[in-house]
Amino acid sequence: MPQLSTDTLLALDRAHVWHPYGPMPGTVTPYVVESASGVRLRLAAPAAGGHRELVDGMSSWWAAIHGYGHPVLDEAVREQLGRMSHVMFGGLTHEPAVRLAATLVEITPEPLRHVFLADSGSVAVEVAMKMCLQYWQSVGRPEKRRLLTWRGGYHGDTFHPMSVCDPQGGMHHLWGGVLPHQLFAAEPPAGFDAPLDDEYVRAFEELMERHADELAAVIVEPVVQGAGGMRFHSPGYLRMLRELCDRHGVLLVFDEIATGFGRSGALFAADHAGVSPDVMCLGKSLTGGYLTMAATLCTAEVADGISRGEMPVLAHGPTFMGNPLAAAVANASIELLLGQDWATEVKRIEAGLLTGLADTAALPGVKDVRVLGAIGVVQLDHPVDMVAATEAAAREGVWLRPFRDLIYTMPPFVTGDEDVARIAAAVTAAAVAG
Ligand SMILES: *Cc1c(COP(=O)(O)O)cnc(C)c1O
Repeated sequence: MPQLSTDTLLALDRAHVWHPYGPMPGTVTPYVVESASGVRLRLAAPAAGGHRELVDGMSSWWAAIHGYGHPVLDEAVREQLGRMSHVMFGGLTHEPAVRLAATLVEITPEPLRHVFLADSGSVAVEVAMKMCLQYWQSVGRPEKRRLLTWRGGYHGDTFHPMSVCDPQGGMHHLWGGVLPHQLFAAEPPAGFDAPLDDEYVRAFEELMERHADELAAVIVEPVVQGAGGMRFHSPGYLRMLRELCDRHGVLLVFDEIATGFGRSGALFAADHAGVSPDVMCLGKSLTGGYLTMAATLCTAEVADGISRGEMPVLAHGPTFMGNPLAAAVANASIELLLGQDWATEVKRIEAGLLTGLADTAALPGVKDVRVLGAIGVVQLDHPVDMVAATEAAAREGVWLRPFRDLIYTMPPFVTGDEDVARIAAAVTAAAVAG
């Protein structure tokens, strides 16, 4: 039973609690969630429109692919809790973490081989960058320490990941002199099915040629750029990156923290291109949205390079590294995903979003509508009125969290057809209101 009245809870929240990307004190009253089950969030008080339950269109930021309170995942946590919730990972190991690492190596593209378990996506990206810089240091090329990415990306909120986020979206102007100065190419041309733009390829080639001597790695989100703008590009650009990185001796990092585990219609977005990176980051849906855990995978070549250095270790070790509860639920989540025809479920959601958003592109104020896998995006021609858009969605009985000029959804894979239709209607209502 809740101990605080909703009013008290909201007053304390406003007085003391930071929320993501929020001011202090907060200016917008958040919904209080009492519980969550299946694809529904149960609120402590009715939202705009009188709904006490909202269909979740966000999967809690790409994470809850199986919905909430899934019996198999609940049981995995309970079972592990009976053994141990946590032990340190230095000098100790345990089955949940070892099984998880072995599974990740098995299901990710060859030749990824070694796994570093981190406690959040941003840390996984930090570790990926550290691996790349240390690799070049160890093999005697310490001048190779810059990163190249394309604009429109998002890689996390800690400082080094922030340095490869889109300079505008990441507000780099606030951090002059603090952020490392990375190299940016133009945004990849839009469209999953669009043919490669020769001019873009040539410009990218030229940029790499000019800077190869100082580049440690290229880091990108493959196929889907998430929080940097919800844009899709052709898998052909990943083949371009692989080819250029090989030609110029530069490592390739795929940040699949948002795209991993089926979201874009392939198990990993890299699979759309048949390309393997040297380093790959996973997170978000890794634990089915239950607990915070992320992973950085690398090839034997990267690990061997690091081992040849004067400091032959990777100096990173979070306190909660390999957390057994998180690893156990990650194992259960992956088994649950792979044990079903997930690709058909994602296709079904894609079809439902395409149908439900078919007429939205013609609405005034709408610039673009795009759908890929279980991701639906409506881009406006103006910044969204977040409060109005959120309330419009709630009136349709749906939880959405728009940002910038974007109203978007990535529902849990277990969302039924009627609920997918409802989400699409809510996205459209939010686009009209916002
Ligand atoms: C969310 C995200 C991150 C950061 O993950 P956190 O767990 O929030 O630190 C990094 N990269 C991508 C592509 C993401 O979507």
